[in-house]
Amino acid sequence: MIREIETTLVDVPTIRPHKLSVATMNTQTLVLVRVLCDDGIEGWGEATTIGGLNYGEESPESIKANVDAHIAPLILGMHAAGVAAVMHKLRKTIQGNRFAKCAIETALLDAHGQRLGLPLSELLGGRVRDTLPVAWTLASGDTAKDILEAETMLERRRHRIFKLKIGARSLQQDVEHVLAIKRALGDRASVRVDVNGAWSELEAVRGIAQLEEGGIDLVEQPVAAANRAALRRLAARFDVAVMADEALHGPFDAFEIARNDGADVFAVKIAQSGGLFPAQQVATVAQLAGIGLYGGTMLEGGVGTAATAHLCSTFPSLAWDTELFGPLLLTEEVLEEPLVYRDFGLQVPSRPGLGVRVDAAKLRRMRRK
Ligand SMILES: [Mg+2]
Repeated sequence: MIREIETTLVDVPTIRPHKLSVATMNTQTLVLVRVLCDDGIEGWGEATTIGGLNYGEESPESIKANVDAHIAPLILGMHAAGVAAVMHKLRKTIQGNRFAKCAIETALLDAHGQRLGLPLSELLGGRVRDTLPVAWTLASGDTAKDILEAETMLERRRHRIFKLKIGARSLQQDVEHVLAIKRALGDRASVRVDVNGAWSELEAVRGIAQLEEGGIDLVEQPVAAANRAALRRLAARFDVAVMADEALHGPFDAFEIARNDGADVFAVKIAQSGGLFPAQQVATVAQLAGIGLYGGTMLEGGVGTAATAHLCSTFPSLAWDTELFGPLLLTEEVLEEPLVYRDFGLQVPSRPGLGVRVDAAKLRRMRRK
């Protein structure tokens, strides 16, 4: 039986300003959901988003309010091991709220995995890999600083894929910034960009032509999420891979974009999809349509990152790697033991459930009062 559902907000400073076209982050607010079952097992899920309401339509505060007032009362007392039945009721009754639903599903699966002695990856069909390559985002906005940061990451064997957040400055400033970094790193690294929807289609045509010429591997969400026709035209026009991110809010979007040949790559995000199983459906649609997969992040801490890692470990092909670096952007860790990053990859936890434990004492100290 589901006995208790508790949502905690934790404000954690980032290690440096993280600049996106939609926001500059100096702090990340983790949204952690704990589900306590009457067999004494507790599961954890995460509903963290980016920049309050700058990125999406759920804020940390609205997620907590909606879980407390609407979601918890609906499912308290239900059979905790019946994860699918609980989520069916939740999805049928509550509109939207994809992040909150994702956190609840993750927590229930974490608890159920512990109950069965199985890692989450096995509840999701079974893992085919134990390590996931992880991209790092260079987002200081300063070319020299970003090159130095990339060199340090290469030297420490932590990342050799770099994603640059662009779209806040003029097109030409952005292109010069990206190409200078690519020239400095050469073939030692894959360099990619994320425009977070900031360009018009015409700007995208001009920008992508230069980025493609300069050896950039991937262009993420160049135009606004709602403008699927433009995304499709750009994917058809250029050889460089064009990725849908903000345009993807779950399996129905995935199906629509795939049906129209609207992108070359999908960023699979568990919270944006509304949970682990919907995210798995997004990935299945992509695989059936010949669209490449990329494991995306909402800059979650250890809980959400572990959950996504379990899911990505089950994909038969993960051609575009992952960006599961969220915990590395934070100055403090909420887990008892941090996730392991080494040799350019994240180790997928292997213990039952999520395979990570939230440090209760740390959380009490760090939580928003
Ligand atoms: Mg993105």
